[in-house]
Amino acid sequence: MQLLKDMIQAKGRVLGDDILKVDSFLNQQVDTQLMLEIGKEFHHFFGQDEVTKILTVESSGIAPALATAMQFSVPMVFARKHQSVTTSDDNYSATVYSFTKKKDNQIFIDKHFLSTNDKVLIIDDFLANGQAVNGLMEICKQAKADVVGVGVVIEKRFQKGHRYLVNNNVRLKVLASISSLSNEKITFAE
Ligand code: 5GP
Repeated sequence: MQLLKDMIQAKGRVLGDDILKVDSFLNQQVDTQLMLEIGKEFHHFFGQDEVTKILTVESSGIAPALATAMQFSVPMVFARKHQSVTTSDDNYSATVYSFTKKKDNQIFIDKHFLSTNDKVLIIDDFLANGQAVNGLMEICKQAKADVVGVGVVIEKRFQKGHRYLVNNNVRLKVLASISSLSNEKITFAE
């Protein structure tokens, strides 16, 4: 997706050898026109699949997931990372190792929001080692919901997530694939 790649090159910042900071258009400030185009791209790819729910994890997945859900005219559901007085205690849950925070998080979804009749499209902002997506797939398994596929805005192809999903026959659509962040240079995969 050229618009996304141009924005990554112009505004992305590399931290160390393996983190891309995209706070100015995806992770803190959100570019709404870009989100609209992202939603359309995922709809174009998965539009024939009778998707009933778009699933993501808070917080960075919410913007692209919402944009996608609007294209499909279906609800967007996000897994929470914290319980509070307003959240249900009747949840599906999974443990996810956070790549950016370097610690385990428990993620939760109220059992009311996923069921055995659902066909789920999982959307996330980044794919690194695949832990977040794996946690969401685990939750779908608990709910006996079908996972139609996974849509990721930016993947870092040099990490394990892409291969893990493809080896497990998960349909994967990536909008920008990065082959290297070495020497503070952003290189896209072909
Ligand atoms: P994974 O679970 O695939 O290892 O990592 C994906 C999750 O970690 C995403 O939900 C994303 O929020 C975060 N993440 C992984 N790598 C990056 C990165 O390079 N930049 C940013 N901003 N977030 C990342």
